[in-house]
Amino acid sequence: MRIVQISSEAVPFAKTGGLADVAGALSKALAEQGHEVTLILPLYSRFLAKNGFEIQPVGDGFEIPLGNHRVWIQLKRAQMPGSSVNVVFVDCPEFFDRGGLYQDPVTKADYADNAERFMTFCRAALEAVARLQLKPDVIHAHDWQTGLVMVLLEAQFRDWVPNLRRTAAIFTLHNMAFQGAYPAEMMPLTGLGWEYFTWTRMECWNRVNLLKTGIIFADQLSTVSPTYSREIQSPEFGHGLDGVLQDRSADLTGILNGIDPHEWSPTNDPHLPARYDFDSIGTGKATCKRTLQEQLNLPVRGEVPLLSMVSRMTWQKGFDLIGACAGRLLERDVQLVFLGNGQPEYEDLCRHLASAYPDKVRTIIGYDEALSHRIEAGSDMFLMPSKFEPCGLNQMYSMAYGTPPIVRATGGLADSVVSATQETLHAGTATGFVFHEHHPDRLWEQLDWALRLFADQLTWRGIQRAGMSRDWSWNRSAREYIALYEKALSRRAT
Ligand code: ADP
Repeated sequence: MRIVQISSEAVPFAKTGGLADVAGALSKALAEQGHEVTLILPLYSRFLAKNGFEIQPVGDGFEIPLGNHRVWIQLKRAQMPGSSVNVVFVDCPEFFDRGGLYQDPVTKADYADNAERFMTFCRAALEAVARLQLKPDVIHAHDWQTGLVMVLLEAQFRDWVPNLRRTAAIFTLHNMAFQGAYPAEMMPLTGLGWEYFTWTRMECWNRVNLLKTGIIFADQLSTVSPTYSREIQSPEFGHGLDGVLQDRSADLTGILNGIDPHEWSPTNDPHLPARYDFDSIGTGKATCKRTLQEQLNLPVRGEVPLLSMVSRMTWQKGFDLIGACAGRLLERDVQLVFLGNGQPEYEDLCRHLASAYPDKVRTIIGYDEALSHRIEAGSDMFLMPSKFEPCGLNQMYSMAYGTPPIVRATGGLADSVVSATQETLHAGTATGFVFHEHHPDRLWEQLDWALRLFADQLTWRGIQRAGMSRDWSWNRSAREYIALYEKALSRRAT
């Protein structure tokens, strides 16, 4: 198949979260399975310059309309490292040559012109498909930033570009909490008439809602885990779009993400002081733990359970539960490491714990890819008590690294972690610890249970090995996406 992926971020070019991992790794996995894949991204020139990628202009620059304005676009091209994926960048310095992807890195406020930025990106991406004659069987777009692609394809580009008439349109929802909803006055910027500003199309509470637009106009929809695909059809998780999703329920599939073994495998991870696998976990992981403790200036002790959390610090991730359990947890002989940044109150909570427990807690506020790998490898347990979690990648990384996660049963956490019970321990299938109700006591019960099991190293090794031996690769997910593409194509053909 000829497949075009359109995303606002992708590893290794630009990343703020899991979307980038998915867009990069899914593209590579599809290419490895023999498909012809083009990935279209905005050119965040400052990020790319820093990482030294070789990028070449393709064709002449051109203008596209944005309301009454015209925006200058130059397409550029690069090769995905270690893969046949063709990467096409939309270079538009006025919108993408900035210090952050969506937010000002200093004020942490969303850029005021995000609607203009990503509406421009969507139209330019479809222009790129047309100008480069990509003739895709499938256009697969991700999240609100690319929602407009779905309607522009349906309303304009299928008519303008004959070889897009039968192209299947797939839209993936990575997080319903971010919808790209803008004031009605923005509607003319889309290049579509007001007849599209209705409840059955792009409007939601008198705003242009780009996530809803993608949901309405795609041929097939997917989310990043089977549990999340059910959850988002309920008011608690649908963020106002649950009714729209119920209407499209027959076309909504949950596909659990994989992890990229080139980026996330303890056997070949260049960030680690020692590499290890299923057999060498004892010595390899001990070295990683010791080095992490040294680097963070924690007491170097092999036997103390080291718990960690690498995360955006937002209400989604369950920091309220961490705050409510921290006192009980830190009465025990444990170490706790936080890496992340985000909402000031959670950054403050983690900083406060570090200063209140100087020999037990370390907090690193910031984004540090290399350190996140070393933390995954050097910890004994990984905390992810999320309120909701569409898929979650960190719990899979941690299982692959022999670091059993403690998670709440939501979204992809429920689909990927097998909780340690007498039965699952006996069957050798337990890979972590799962609690259900969003309540500190439920988290504490699992923490307490995990600490008790940690003291029995033989049982613990069994949990580690069960997680490490599961197939977390993208091959399985990529095959499920291909089945979804085929379903959409067969519907288009009839
Ligand atoms: P989300 O997409 O909601 O942020 P995921 O678990 O799906 O959550 O993916 C988060 C990704 O971002 C993981 O690859 C994780 O390691 C990474 N990440 C999050 N915060 C940091 C940080 N402060 N430093 C390094 N990596 C981080």
